[in-house]
Amino acid sequence: MVDYYGRAKFFRTKKRLGQNFLINGEVIQDIIDYAKITKDDVVVEIGPGVGFVTEQLVKYAKKVIAIELDEEAIKELECNQEINKYGNLEIIHNDILKTDLSTLCDEQIKIVANIPYYITSPIIAHLLGEIDDLTNENRNKIIDIILMVQEEVAHRIVATEKSSGKQYGLLTILSQFWANCEIIRTVGRKSFYPAPKVNSALVSMKVRKEPKLKLTDYTHFRKTIKSAFSQRRKTLKNCLVSNGFSKENVEKALKELNLDENIRGEKLSIEQFGELSELLLKD
Ligand code: SAH
Repeated sequence: MVDYYGRAKFFRTKKRLGQNFLINGEVIQDIIDYAKITKDDVVVEIGPGVGFVTEQLVKYAKKVIAIELDEEAIKELECNQEINKYGNLEIIHNDILKTDLSTLCDEQIKIVANIPYYITSPIIAHLLGEIDDLTNENRNKIIDIILMVQEEVAHRIVATEKSSGKQYGLLTILSQFWANCEIIRTVGRKSFYPAPKVNSALVSMKVRKEPKLKLTDYTHFRKTIKSAFSQRRKTLKNCLVSNGFSKENVEKALKELNLDENIRGEKLSIEQFGELSELLLKD
């Protein structure tokens, strides 16, 4: 048994870099199993830290490319014998948000990561690209994404218009527009060192070759949903109108879709948003 706890304590973790190391060997094994990593796979790990997940990745993958911002963590990685004996780790000292994934290697990649939570949404946006970016090069490079995120964020990623509370929103639509998303398992806060305040969950995002909807204008769709979720307490109609859509057109479109005038954005399915966007475009 690896003493992850002891090793994590030995390293002084930095809060400002979102360093919460995964110290539960069972969860690490689950990540490897669900990612179905084989000797054909090039895996990109975001934020490897001192390498607790990396140690397993190098065993199963052809190659692992680890992108880490913290120099001290990189020093630990570089002298990690468990990793070095496989000779297939490339470390890149950079901010993931500034790293172009498309030029890292020739092969398609799998992303596997217990990420720094303070930049969860930016990381997802970086990996998947904008909704109307049909040829995003990062996304085109990726087959599969397995991410550890806060449990609450995982519920937002997989939400539907039928979900309770305020889970369904822009992150939901961005995630599901370009990936098929699933929660694999929840992970208790004590599986990390230092333990964060909230539980986590492992999510799988399988990148789609085609967007979820076929539309005539993707930029207009993006504008429609951004407007629809711009003010949480307002109705869909008021949100759209205060973002420059004409009241008359919005009322007409809602009527045509058989939707109540006072409906809120979070009650529309992604498909209904697509139809709404197309109707508003015609006017
Ligand atoms: N995956 C490791 C560490 C998780 S903590 C484990 O589970 O043990 C998150 C890691 O992301 C830290 O090592 C932190 O230094 C790194 N990190 C934080 N911001 C980053 C950024 N912008 N780009 C790349 N890595 C970053």
